[in-house]
Amino acid sequence: VSAFADFVEGIELVDHHVHGPFRADGDEARFQNALNEGNSAQLRDPSQSYETQLGFAIRRWCAELLDLPRHANPAEYWGRRAELGEVEVGRRMTRAAGVSDWLVDTGFRATDYLDPAGLAELSGGAAHEIVRLEVLAEEIIARIADPADFASEFGAKLHDLSLSAVGAKSVLAYRGGFAQDLGKPTPSAVAEAARRWSGGNHRRLNDVTLIAHGIHAALELGMPLQFHVGFGDRDLDLEKANPALLMGFLRSVEHGGTPILLLHCYPYEREAGYLAQAFENVYLDVGLATNFTGARSAALLARSFELAPFSKILYSSDAYGPSELHYLGARLWRNSVTQVLGGWIDDDQWSESDARKVVQLVARDNARRVYELP
Ligand SMILES: [Zn+2]
Repeated sequence: VSAFADFVEGIELVDHHVHGPFRADGDEARFQNALNEGNSAQLRDPSQSYETQLGFAIRRWCAELLDLPRHANPAEYWGRRAELGEVEVGRRMTRAAGVSDWLVDTGFRATDYLDPAGLAELSGGAAHEIVRLEVLAEEIIARIADPADFASEFGAKLHDLSLSAVGAKSVLAYRGGFAQDLGKPTPSAVAEAARRWSGGNHRRLNDVTLIAHGIHAALELGMPLQFHVGFGDRDLDLEKANPALLMGFLRSVEHGGTPILLLHCYPYEREAGYLAQAFENVYLDVGLATNFTGARSAALLARSFELAPFSKILYSSDAYGPSELHYLGARLWRNSVTQVLGGWIDDDQWSESDARKVVQLVARDNARRVYELP
């Protein structure tokens, strides 16, 4: 298995769902709060986020990149991190990740984070944009004088973006969840919904008619469409983010053939694996939870390798903020693949050459094919 481990170590990854690292230095509380995904409020005791699988995994796997011993204690870790500064930490972490291509969700327009060009420069890799459909709709509603123009403005802008962006993403999971009517709305229903929405004083688009309109517009343009699924912050209702609730929608759009990518999926990775088997155009990853489950991430990766065809599984980190997450996602993925697939080789369940082919698919070839990367 050591030759196989070397193969896994050396393969370059496509990180098909990621966000920008922090752009500049911040205080320790910012770092600590960024290590908690579920609680969207500021933690009363931010140091509790060190006492987690993710906190332990950072000290185990990232400390060496900061010239510290493995398992350096939190005070040593933070002290050295602050001494090097966010940009230098980011340079070290993103370059050590072994990622050739980052597919960046630009939905958060916060100035605290690097944009795709900034991530490309920091990491030495290529960056590609994924368009956030709800953010686009919010921008257009705020800009147009007559809500009747919404559909044509949205269509034109999405078409322009599709010439450079490699895919689209919906956060429907955060905007009422999957158990809603996702049929393609009529033009008059879209105009009526746009009028209703622009008359209110809402910040975030949660009108299912306008969200469904965006989803169908992206599919018709042939833009690979990502859905946030499962684990996220508590703004979503977890049980409404179960991808099994998408089955009616998936049946209705499968004939179009546009790829649909289920992101994160935890704790519904088994449902997602079933959907990847059941529908020609459905794919999944277990990013985000890979980082957050740390030493348990091998079990998560193993579950993602149950029902899904291997041509339907992708790698992502879903890193956002601390660049440890950009590195650790890749580090834990390599560890888990070596342990899980390597174990199947050892048990003579899989041949090593089959395992290498699967690693090649999941690490990069599936993403390159689905997003038609250059
Ligand atoms: Zn994300």
